[in-house]
Amino acid sequence: MAGDSTGPQTPNAPGADGATAGTAAGAPPPKYPKGVILGKDGKPCRACNSFASFTTQSKSALKAAAPAPAKDCPPDVEVLGRSTWTLLHSIAATYPPTPTPKEQSDIKSFMRLFSKLYPCWVCAEDFQAYMQKREVKAGSRDEFGNWLCEAHNEVNRKLGKPTFDCRKWEERWRTGWKDGSCD
Ligand SMILES: Cc1cc2nc3c(=O)[nH]c(=O)nc-3n(C[C@H](O)[C@H](O)[C@H](O)COP(=O)(O)OP(=O)(O)OC[C@H]3O[C@@H](n4cnc5c(N)ncnc54)[C@H](O)[C@@H]3O)c2cc1C
Repeated sequence: MAGDSTGPQTPNAPGADGATAGTAAGAPPPKYPKGVILGKDGKPCRACNSFASFTTQSKSALKAAAPAPAKDCPPDVEVLGRSTWTLLHSIAATYPPTPTPKEQSDIKSFMRLFSKLYPCWVCAEDFQAYMQKREVKAGSRDEFGNWLCEAHNEVNRKLGKPTFDCRKWEERWRTGWKDGSCD
């Protein structure tokens, strides 16, 4: 569980008007591999694709190791996602057990803005749609932690990853595992 990874996943393709290489009718031949998600500048969106899908490194170089951007390169969709979930669940872990009305409205504002500003635009659109269906719950740490865990599980399902047992979110993100392996 802790630190597990299922390897590269390509984000869901955007809708009919979305920008993926090679999809526009009558457009000039794509410069990028088919399926690569483009940003607003018409270039591959690093934060929206797995590194393996847009790198110019040779196939043999990629086979030699699990493809991942070097530590000092801009993040791909997975590096960004992993870091972001770490931040979000850590915010939940330090959210007050009994928040004031202001703290509750702050976390809701933060999540609303976060979902608009998330650099993987396809991920952001889906997450905004999820938040419209399932409003942020922030009445307590437990409530917000569980809401976030369910939201993360929704993304896991979309990507075909195993879901996480939300009864254990605090062990994973706040207290450490009961077996003492984090102590
Ligand atoms: C808001 C958001 C939307 C995203 N949308 C997309 C998308 O559309 N397409 C795409 O390709 N990628 C998307 N990502 C990235 C994706 O969710 C993963 O972060 C990425 O694929 C790397 O996955 P990973 O297997 O390393 O583990 P991650 O999913 O990054 O999880 C990190 C760690 O969190 C723990 N964990 C897993 N599930 C839960 C849970 N439910 N609750 C608590 N802890 C958990 C596990 O210990 C895991 O190792 C999104 C990320 C975010 C933050």
